[in-house]
Amino acid sequence: MEKAQAYIRIHELREILNEANRLYYVENSPTLSDYEFDMLLKELDGLEKEYPEYISADSPTRRVGSDLKKEFEQYPHRYPMLSLGNTYDISEVQLFADRASKGIGNSFTYSCELKFDGTAICLTYRNGKLFRALTRGDGSVGDDVTRNVRQISNIPQSLTLPAGFIPTSDIPAPWPQEFEIRGEIYMPWAAFDRLNDERIEEEEQPFANPRNAASGSLKLIDSRMVANRGLECTLYHMLGENLPFSTHDQALKAAEDWGLPVSDKRRICRDIEEIEDFINHWDIERKNLPYATDGIVIKVNELPYQEELGYTSKFPRWAVAYKFKAEQALTKLISIDYQVGRTGAVTPVANLEPVQLSGTVVKRASLHNADQMEQLDIRIGDYVYVEKGGEIIPKITGVELSQRTADATLPRFPEFCPDCGTALIKDEEEAKSFCPNQTGCPTQIKGRLVHFLSRKAMNVIAGDATVEQLFNKALVWNVADFYDLKTEHLLMLDGWKDRSAGRFIKSLQESRKVEFDRVLYALGIRYVGEATARSIARHFGNIDAVMDASVEDLLTVDDVGQVIAESVHDFFTEESNREIVSRLKAAGLKFDMGETPQKLSDGLEGKTIVISGNFSISRDEMKALIAAHGGKNSGSISGKTAFLLAGEKAGPEKLKKADSLGIRVLSEEEFMDIIGGSGEAESADSENGIHTSKGVQLSLF
Ligand SMILES: [Zn+2]
Repeated sequence: MEKAQAYIRIHELREILNEANRLYYVENSPTLSDYEFDMLLKELDGLEKEYPEYISADSPTRRVGSDLKKEFEQYPHRYPMLSLGNTYDISEVQLFADRASKGIGNSFTYSCELKFDGTAICLTYRNGKLFRALTRGDGSVGDDVTRNVRQISNIPQSLTLPAGFIPTSDIPAPWPQEFEIRGEIYMPWAAFDRLNDERIEEEEQPFANPRNAASGSLKLIDSRMVANRGLECTLYHMLGENLPFSTHDQALKAAEDWGLPVSDKRRICRDIEEIEDFINHWDIERKNLPYATDGIVIKVNELPYQEELGYTSKFPRWAVAYKFKAEQALTKLISIDYQVGRTGAVTPVANLEPVQLSGTVVKRASLHNADQMEQLDIRIGDYVYVEKGGEIIPKITGVELSQRTADATLPRFPEFCPDCGTALIKDEEEAKSFCPNQTGCPTQIKGRLVHFLSRKAMNVIAGDATVEQLFNKALVWNVADFYDLKTEHLLMLDGWKDRSAGRFIKSLQESRKVEFDRVLYALGIRYVGEATARSIARHFGNIDAVMDASVEDLLTVDDVGQVIAESVHDFFTEESNREIVSRLKAAGLKFDMGETPQKLSDGLEGKTIVISGNFSISRDEMKALIAAHGGKNSGSISGKTAFLLAGEKAGPEKLKKADSLGIRVLSEEEFMDIIGGSGEAESADSENGIHTSKGVQLSLF
């Protein structure tokens, strides 16, 4: 790969992995399977090794994902809470063992343990009582979830004295006055299935896997609810000052004696053969465990040797995780449905002969797109391998060609929308086929309606079936129609009574309080997810500014690239969408951020300004300052640009372009003069060594 390409790929990978980390740790709804994630991480690591000039401290290769949430108090970890280096390859376990042997130089042992698939926890016991429980957080700071952890039944509030231990005034207890013990909080399969059944009943999104269910439950705000989630804990690493143990195994045995939950499924191994035996045994046996495991952890058992080997910035050098490949099942492909989604993308979905996989019966699996079908060379009637990744719907990963029969038929990806008959368009970049009939394709319309009402959007209580009925009875065609619904309309629906209709109308009424960023998300603009909607809403402040924004304007928003900018611009160019917005406005929905920034002057009214470089205040503050004086920010220079405001290290391309178009270039000082700032006040401040934001000073004028 060429250097320029590597640079682009590195940034692309970091973006994908950071977003995947956020979805995984904060939203608890993963988009990538662990395997996919680990492979991308490996690719990034390889590129960073090849091009060390692009290494950055905040790369996902050097940072653990963060689960921090603002709802919880945060405390620093006494010892950094790192993750483990992991591999799917037994030869890398061998390499780990070789490195450890070389580093230690003496004979030593390994402790092999199950890798529980849950969420990491760090418990502190002080004087034998549970004092605090922190999540991993970002590795150095964790969320305080002590209240919730107290609801988990197998975590003791107080330690118990081992049988035969007689306390004396010299040795009052066998445990250190204070120590930390780390482990995993997980949700057993039975509790997981029960929880998801309840969620489906309540029309809530089910959790993708027990791990997400566990971390979501641990972060519940109402700790009473945690008690009903059936969480369990297993502990695997004790830390403290001068612990009286020489091996990790002794420490865990002691913890067990004190009443702490420690897994009995571990073994002390002497060499790689014994490690491999342990791995192979559990790769099969784990299917019979009542909880999810995703691998084996191999640790150097002797504590002095652990210390000797030490840590990298992200991993301990004395431990490694071997991860099992996702569980597979072999079954017959009966047929393929082609489903149209909310954005018009047509996805092939396989109907399978029911088969047992990771604790559930699988009947349907995703095939992603036409390219993947071709790659797999799949036929109707084939025996196929299915795997569960991070998503609820499993995917087909391979075809067992040895079992193909003569009557297996080649599937044909449709050329026309299975729903409305419009010719499909293929998006080469995404390898997906789209139905372009956005305003007339029933599935797309219904998909947008369902999205609009969904919990993260307008949060209106209604199931897909309600939307289906409203649409079929021609009561709702676009999202604005919801707000014209009257009780008598709703009573036309099957099984609806005054009470359910009243509840729905009230829920719609409530949705008028939903903040602008979520309303913008609810509109269902392609590629605009929650986070992007928030950035756009904050940047522009109100819908009119968003609707009038050019692609260049949109590109100045953080996290908005060309594809998103074009998508937003196209959406609002469509007259029908503008009409929907004006009807929603009339219905009373929130279309501005509320806190309109204080208007300081209209000195820049009608002027479009481009900024470049660094200023004494942040670029966002500078943009806000321009807006507060009535000016308009733009990302690129054109004939309409009033002037280029150039700070330190202004972009040479921009300066050149301004020069060629004869556009004035202003320094920060000149700009401050224009809007009424004064150089004197600033120099006085710098003499006093006080850094005052000029925005603050200006508001005084
Ligand atoms: Zn269609």
